[in-house]
Amino acid sequence: LKFVDILGVPFIHTTQKDFIATLETHVAKQEKAFVVTANPEIVMHSLNDEAYKQTLAKATYITADGIGIVKAAAIVGEPLPERVSGYDIMLDLLETANKNHSSVFFLGAAEEVLQATVQKANQDYPNIKVVGSHNGFFDWNDYKLPQQIKNTAPDFVFVALGFPRQEQWIGANIDQFDKGVFIGIGGSFDVFSG
Ligand code: UDP
Repeated sequence: LKFVDILGVPFIHTTQKDFIATLETHVAKQEKAFVVTANPEIVMHSLNDEAYKQTLAKATYITADGIGIVKAAAIVGEPLPERVSGYDIMLDLLETANKNHSSVFFLGAAEEVLQATVQKANQDYPNIKVVGSHNGFFDWNDYKLPQQIKNTAPDFVFVALGFPRQEQWIGANIDQFDKGVFIGIGGSFDVFSG
């Protein structure tokens, strides 16, 4: 795997299609992954916030979320093939999960958005197993949510808490899980369900 450094953030050099295949391999091998889809705002934030930089350092993969990162890579002379954004990854992973009968957990957004997301996912991707869901407004010290994720052992966990919360939450919790592809996807549930 090749990485392109932009202001200290290592972006994976990949196409969207290859990246989905990479994550599919993680699921097949039951290997954990922490995916950050990073836009310029995230890169800038990492420069000013050491704790956030440490969180990004825990990520398995950081993808170029948006044309701004792709342009920056071209400027530093290490072009990236294309942007690999959170919403597009979520849609492709749902397709993959449907094909492979994988299990999925939805975490984040307001309760009604979450419910609409679960309903649409079940409708559009009938073979996926939605093993759990939780809205994005909860006490981070409560162990019950991580426990629920641990017990249901989902193949994919979509974390829609917005930046920088989703990366912080995954970074703080991933060590306790045995498997699963965890990915922060911002406001994607709002888009998906809307
Ligand atoms: N959100 C959440 N918990 C929070 C704050 C936000 O689940 O404590 C959700 C919000 O409902 C929305 C998503 O995170 O679905 C993205 O929120 P926002 O637009 O504020 O984040 P950004 O676009 O900056 O990533």
